[in-house]
This record gives sequence, C-alpha cells and structure tokens, in this order.
Amino acid sequence: MSITEPLHTAQPGISTRSVHSGANPESHTGSVVAPIFQTSTFMMDAPGQTRAGFDYARTGTPNRSDLEQVLCELENATFAAAVNSGTSAEVAVFSALLGPGDEIIIPRDIYGGTYRLLVNEYERWGISIRTVDLTDTEALAAEISEKTAIVWVETPSNPGLDIVDIEETARLAHAANALLAVDSTFATPILQRPIELGADVVIHSTTKFINGHSDVIGGAVLAGDGSTCARAAEVVERLQNYLASVGLGVAPFDAWLTRRGIKTLPVRMARHCENAQAVAEWLEGRPEIAEVLYPGLPSHPGHEVAKKQMSGFGGVVSFRTDTEARALSLVQNTQLITLAESLGGVESLIDHPATMTHLAVADCELSVSPTFIRLSLGIEDIGDILADLESALAASVQTPDGVSSGVEAPVSDHSLSALKRPVATV
Ligand SMILES: *Cc1c(COP(=O)(O)O)cnc(C)c1O
Repeated sequence: MSITEPLHTAQPGISTRSVHSGANPESHTGSVVAPIFQTSTFMMDAPGQTRAGFDYARTGTPNRSDLEQVLCELENATFAAAVNSGTSAEVAVFSALLGPGDEIIIPRDIYGGTYRLLVNEYERWGISIRTVDLTDTEALAAEISEKTAIVWVETPSNPGLDIVDIEETARLAHAANALLAVDSTFATPILQRPIELGADVVIHSTTKFINGHSDVIGGAVLAGDGSTCARAAEVVERLQNYLASVGLGVAPFDAWLTRRGIKTLPVRMARHCENAQAVAEWLEGRPEIAEVLYPGLPSHPGHEVAKKQMSGFGGVVSFRTDTEARALSLVQNTQLITLAESLGGVESLIDHPATMTHLAVADCELSVSPTFIRLSLGIEDIGDILADLESALAASVQTPDGVSSGVEAPVSDHSLSALKRPVATV
C-alpha cells in the first residue's frame, strides 16, 4: 500500500502539503521558515483594525494558524484548532458538544486518560458514560439510544489496537442523531482520514506521531463542512465559542515545533509502519510471546477493516507475554528501546500499561493485563531494534525468582481506586 498518494487530483500530494501548506516564505524578510511570533498581543492601526486578523494571542497567533492550516489540509477538514494537549482537544469536544442528561458511548479499549477525564470531570455534570465494544457494530446498534449525543471512537486504540469501522459507525451514529468523534492519534491523517468516512469531529494528540520528536505536548480538534457532516455548522460554532472563551490554544514555540515535525510526517509514518510490521511478524514466532496485536497481521481481527479505511497500519505493536514476570523483566532489559510513557517519536519506546500509562483504568472494566506490553516503533534501523528485543527476551525471566514454572502469574490485585491517583497517563 502506498501512503503518499494524492487525495484528490486537483490537490498537491500529501507529502507536498506536509512540507508546504501554510509555510510560505515570510513576506517581510523572506525567511524561508516562519519566525516564532512570541507575543501576547498585536498592534492595531485603529481601534478594532488588525494587520492580519490577530488581536490577542489567546484567540489566535500566526504560528498556531500555520499549524491549523496544514492540519486542515492533511485531514481534508475545514476547521482545525491546535490546542495545548490531546486531552485539551478532548475537553473542547466534551465541553462544547455535551450537556447534562447526555450520554457518550466510548469503546471498550480506550486511552486511559480519556476514560479518567470523563469519569472524574464530566460524570458529575450529569453526563453518562456507556462502554460498548465498538469493534462490533451490532453491539453499537443495540446500545445506542436517543440519549446518545456522541459516539467516541478510538481507532487504532491505545493500547489494544482495536480497529473500529468508521464508515459503519458514522452511519449508526447519524441514524440515532448522535455525533461521531474519532480519536485518530495512532493513525495520523497520513494513514486515515475519518472526516472523509463520515466522522463529525476528529481529535489528535499531536504529542505523538504528528509532532513525532517527543519534545512537545499538543493536540488538535478538526471538523468537516456540510458536505460530509450535516451538523457541521453547529459543531464548528460550538467548538469555536468554547475555545475562544477558554484559551486552550497551543503556545507559539510548540506550534512552530509541531509544524516543523509535520514536514517529515509522511516519510516518518512510512518507516514507523515498516518497522512495526517487521517487529510484529518477528514477535509472532517467539515462544515467550502469547499473543501479538498489530492491525497489519492477517491474524488481527480488525485486519480487513484496517485495510479498507487505512493506507498503512501504524507504528505501534502490542503483545502479551507468557507471564507477568516476563513482561516486567522484558521492559527493563531493552537497551536501545527506552522504557517510557508516550509513543510516536522517532525513538522506539516500550511501555507496561498496567503499571504505567493505563494505571488510571486499573480497577475498572477497561483494565489492561499485566502481561501486556505496548511498543512504539521509532525510525531506527530494524536490525538494531530486533537485536535489542532478542537480547532483552533472552535476559527476561518467566517467574519472579527466575525459575520457569509454565504457569501464568495471577493478575495483581489493585485495592486503591486508581482513578483518583494523580498519575500521568499517555
Ligand atoms: C496520548 C493520547 C491522548 C492524550 O494526549 P496528550 O497529548 O497526552 O494530552 C489521547 N488519545 C490517545 C489515543 C493518546 O495516545
């Protein structure tokens, strides 16, 4: 599959847009790269008369606009807001588009922070949260009701890499007069464009692949126009009003770094996908590995849907080891691959969700097995990545005392309400 095809013949290709959209040489000096406009306010020529539409930096800045323009052009959206985290993008969607008495349907596998945000901050305002296995469209058809205001999809999901059929879910959501919002962080607009498939709203944690260099926290909210989304005008107006009132916009330097990161997004995604596919296939043959989850493997239950709606399968591979002790010792024995939260950077990162990123969901129905590992493949040489995994697996142990028992360790008992712990979840 090619990930560099032009979207429309009338439009430049997606790699060209990644480099050039919104990034013309600056007119005053000719600087090829846009300067960083580190200012909180803009001079007016007369009361209310701005030079370029900017008045006060809460509502907009040139660097934020550059980033929003390229995001729109990559996603084929008509509205983009670049905000200061992926979670802020979610806050904008929940606050602008939900009200007391509304229900939001969320998937069974979801980024832990999204779940925690909804349960801790929105349930008390009278919003109900219903978890449905959205990989099963019949389950959604049975659960959706007139109370449902938003169906929230995350595909591929973090950390389980579930694949949800966006087109089919949009059809069911719209038939029930609900909006479809898609967290497309793992795909980026290079691999998947939910608005073209009927989604009303898309969010990204640009912290991940879109910026791609593990040096910025950022997010984006995008929406389409009336040609793809019947309620687009209402959705955009509510998002704009909320964002202008609250001020979640990304700061100038972070916007500038993210815009720079996007210039290489298509080439990075191609390498992330290539490395992830090779690692997934390699892991499938290892005796210490109980299960490999990667949408690019024909064994993955979402493989056919992923092939239909994505132009590549992404840079994250998840897997389960034979025992909990194996998982914990493996993540501590890699040398090249760094044990850290987050994903989508040029460097490979390994994560043990049950104790790190998904601790927020440890005590609930969304909990992640302690044998589960999430691996974000960077753009390093594949030989070095596989050699690192090979030696880490050789150094790993199956049981806590290092003696093979062949018995799976029990799931640890989390007694505290992990939802209340102030942990970072990425
Ligand atoms: C990281 C992540 C988020 C949250 O983004 P932040 O930038 O950390 O606030 C949301 N959804 C998914 C799928 C993520 O991986």
